[in-house]
Amino acid sequence: MIWVYISTLINFINSYQPFQDLPTPKLIAFLFLLLLIPVAWWFLFFYRKKRKDQLFPPGWKAILEKEVTFYRHLPEAKRIRFEQDIQQFLEETQITGVGTQVDDTDLMLVAASAVIPLFGFPDWRYRDLNEVLLYDGAFNEDYETRQGEERDILGMVGEGSMNRMMILSKPALRKGFANPNSPHNVGIHEFVHLLDKADGATDGIPETFLQQPYLIPWTKMMHREIQAIKAGHSDIDVYGSTNEAEFFSVVSKYFFQQPHLLEKHHPELFALLEKIFKQDLS
Ligand SMILES: [Zn+2]
Repeated sequence: MIWVYISTLINFINSYQPFQDLPTPKLIAFLFLLLLIPVAWWFLFFYRKKRKDQLFPPGWKAILEKEVTFYRHLPEAKRIRFEQDIQQFLEETQITGVGTQVDDTDLMLVAASAVIPLFGFPDWRYRDLNEVLLYDGAFNEDYETRQGEERDILGMVGEGSMNRMMILSKPALRKGFANPNSPHNVGIHEFVHLLDKADGATDGIPETFLQQPYLIPWTKMMHREIQAIKAGHSDIDVYGSTNEAEFFSVVSKYFFQQPHLLEKHHPELFALLEKIFKQDLS
């Protein structure tokens, strides 16, 4: 097919008078550019269409409907985009079980945790992540699940030798989605840390996403709310007062898990989070 195209093109160039005056390098460059046209056409129409048409497995759809409240509340058109984002995430990210099996529910819950915080930014991807490790339980700073001290970590964005990795406790991941009325969701919590880290600093200020005019109001709001938690005047999980990064992850979980409650109890905070995540959850 492509050779028919090339020989027709060469015959055309040879017979077309204006081209016979062209110097050879220019002619080759011109020929090369012309050749790019069918390649670009194939990519734009066939390859992209094929990707879009890739059927979302009905089994996956059923899991999302059953387990993911955020997905259930989306209108049909946005559900399709959510499914495409899930597929894209799973194409780019390895999910590995450590001492535990990974089934379709785990794949869907990890991918949904990744897609939910980024759903307002259709072109953004987690470029700092290659793999998510699922552990069979809580772990400690040395990534031990069965022995050693203080095995109370449920999720972590890897640093150093674990760079470009995320570790999640599989039971905690499942529990986060099983209780939609609980503000705890370790999957969303850790992906919000990753999103916070996109500007180079995990500091509770997602500069990549937050537009300049909201930077100062957000920082002030964050410090005011942390003080309120410390003084015992807030319903936000006390873990959010650990530092700014934890505050951002904790309130983001609250925002995605219980938007109506957050809007009722903290309307200004809710409004700023809607701006940060570019999502209308009211
Ligand atoms: Zn955290």
